[in-house]
Amino acid sequence: MIDSGHTEPREPFVIQGPLFTLLNDNSVNTYDYFDCGSMVVGDQGRILYVGPSVPADYSHYRIKKTQHLIFPGFIDAHVHYPQLPVIASYGVSLLEWLDKYTFPEEAKYSQRLYAERRARQFLELILQRGVTSAAVFSTIHQEAFDALLGAASYSGFNLVSGVTGMNRGAPDDVLVDVGLFKEISSKAMESGLGVERFRYAITPRFALSCDEEMLDYCGQLLEINPHLLMQTHINETEDEVLATSNLFPRSTDYLDVYDAFGLLGDRSLFAHGIYTTESEYKRWAASGASVIHCPTSNTFLGSGLFNASEYVSRNINIGMGSDVGGGFSLNPFVTMSEAYKVARLGGKVLDPLQLVYWHTLGSAKAINQADVIGSLESGKWADFCLIDITSDDIGFEVWERSRSVQEKLFGLMFLLPDSSSRVVETYAGGISRWRDTSCLGSK
Ligand SMILES: [Zn+2]
Repeated sequence: MIDSGHTEPREPFVIQGPLFTLLNDNSVNTYDYFDCGSMVVGDQGRILYVGPSVPADYSHYRIKKTQHLIFPGFIDAHVHYPQLPVIASYGVSLLEWLDKYTFPEEAKYSQRLYAERRARQFLELILQRGVTSAAVFSTIHQEAFDALLGAASYSGFNLVSGVTGMNRGAPDDVLVDVGLFKEISSKAMESGLGVERFRYAITPRFALSCDEEMLDYCGQLLEINPHLLMQTHINETEDEVLATSNLFPRSTDYLDVYDAFGLLGDRSLFAHGIYTTESEYKRWAASGASVIHCPTSNTFLGSGLFNASEYVSRNINIGMGSDVGGGFSLNPFVTMSEAYKVARLGGKVLDPLQLVYWHTLGSAKAINQADVIGSLESGKWADFCLIDITSDDIGFEVWERSRSVQEKLFGLMFLLPDSSSRVVETYAGGISRWRDTSCLGSK
C-alpha cells in the first residue's frame, strides 16, 4: 500500500547496496556504478552524498543495507491517469480508440469519488513500478484534477499536471467551453499553489480538441506565468496530422499551429512527434521544447515508429512516457525495451544508457527539474527505487555475467518485466512510499 510520509519524521539515514545512477553533466553516458555504494539521505528528503563509502560526518546515521539495486526514481513524462481502465482496448487506431474507449471513460471523472478512487489506484500502481515523478493528463473536470493533486500530495509523488482543455471534436460530456475552462483552470492553479512537489502544466489535449480561442487562452497563460509548463500531443498518426492541417489551413504544419498560439518554447512537452517534418525539426530545435517518446503507445495503436536519431542529431531533448492507456504498461522497463525495439526496426541500436537517460534525466529536463530530480546526486531529492536483481535465477545469471553496466541495464530492460525480480520498494523525498510487503524482513 501507499505510505504517506506526512506524519513520519524524516529521519536521516544511509542506504548501502549496489547503486547505479547517471550523472547530470549534459552527457547521456556518464554514470556512477558501485557494487556496494552508499547514499546519505538528509532530514529534508534530499541526498547529501553518494559514493563508495560513508563520510565520517554521517557515520552516526542509521544504516539500511540492501542487496537490491538502488536506482534513480523514473520519470514518466507523458501519461493519462483517467485512462488506466481502458488500457489494452482491442483493435483500433488512435482516433477510433479515443471515441470508442477513452472519451466514455473520461466522462466519469466528473464524479469526485470515482476520480479519487482512480487517482489513488494510479499512484499506487505507478509507485510500484519505481516511478516517482510524472507529467500526467487529467480530464476537463475540476474533480479529476483535485483528486490527482490530493493523492499525489499524500504520497509524496512529484507531480506535473493541469486541467485538460478541449472544446471540440468529442462528446459534450468531455468538452468544456472556454469560459468554464478559465474558471476551472484558475481554481486548479490556486489549489496547487504551495503544494510541495507540484507544478502546473497547461494542458490543451491536442489541436483537434481545441479551437483557436482555447489555444489562444492557453498561450496567454503560458506567457504570463513563467513557472508553468505546457503539455500536449503532436504528429502521432497520419490521420491526425491530416485532420489538423484541414482544421488549421493557414498553418504551415502541426508545430506551426502550436507556435502560432505561443505554445512552443522551452517549457513545452510534445508527446509522440512521429511524423515530424524537416521544417518542424528546425523550429523545434530552436525552441528548446522537448519531445516525449511513448513507444508502447505507438506500437500498440499502430501509430508509427519514432525516429529518435532525428531528434538526437538536432539536440532536441527527449523524455519518455508510458502514455497509458494508449500505452499498455506503466513499467519503465517495458517502455525502454519497447523503445529499443522501435529503434531496431528503424535500423538503429540504442545504448541502454541512452534509454535510461530518457526515462530519468531527459524526462527531468523536459519538466524543467533536472536540477532536483532524475539522478542520485548530492542536493537532489532522494527519489529512488530498489530493484530485486537476485530472486530470478536467469536474471541474476545475466546480471552476474554481464561485463559492462550497459549489459546489466539491458538485461534488466528485457528480463525484468517477465521475471520474479522486480521493483520492491520506492522512495520519494527520502521516505518509503511503497514497498512490496511480501518480501519485508527478507532483505
Ligand atoms: Zn497521450
